[in-house]
Amino acid sequence: MHITEKIFLCLSLLMIMYLSGCYAPPAFKPITITTIPMKPPKKEIPSLGSQLDRYIVRDWKYIVIHHSASASGCASEFDRYHREKRGWENGLGYHFVIGNGCGAGDGQIEIGNRWVKQIDGAHAGVQEYNHYGIGICLVGNFNGSYPTTAQMSSLSALVDYLQERCHIPSENVIMHRHFRETECPGRNFPYYKLLAKTARW
Ligand SMILES: [Zn+2]
Repeated sequence: MHITEKIFLCLSLLMIMYLSGCYAPPAFKPITITTIPMKPPKKEIPSLGSQLDRYIVRDWKYIVIHHSASASGCASEFDRYHREKRGWENGLGYHFVIGNGCGAGDGQIEIGNRWVKQIDGAHAGVQEYNHYGIGICLVGNFNGSYPTTAQMSSLSALVDYLQERCHIPSENVIMHRHFRETECPGRNFPYYKLLAKTARW
């Protein structure tokens, strides 16, 4: 048989198969949606135990560090201020406050209502960072003073926990001044020591 006859025969055969329904398109495969497991990490924050594990977290991308720029304070005090002076109905703009011993315990981590409800913060002054950023405020003014050892120890544990829990890379652990015209969290804040992860506080 001549080559052109062979090709013609093959094509005819395929045409017959197609028209008679023998040739079916590939079976439809449903797309499987993969979800990121956001299980609590095995490591616990010493002062909080497994308290943070109870909250189901949403799609956080950043951890934004602030100072209060005040010598003293605590979550309830800042909450009142944010409600009354700023008029924010959700109150406290941060997700966490870490005390310095004046107003709240030294190194005490207070969990804000916005973390409990997993809602946007009001700490960044930029929508992207308010929406995707977990706001942590250390009580103190670190232009004139330094965070206490207990504060840095708690912050370090909290940041480690949140990074693991929410899959946040270290380059997204940032200071307020990284994206805003501000000195926050103060000139003395030991940012690189915190990121080094090797420091003992
Ligand atoms: Zn700030």
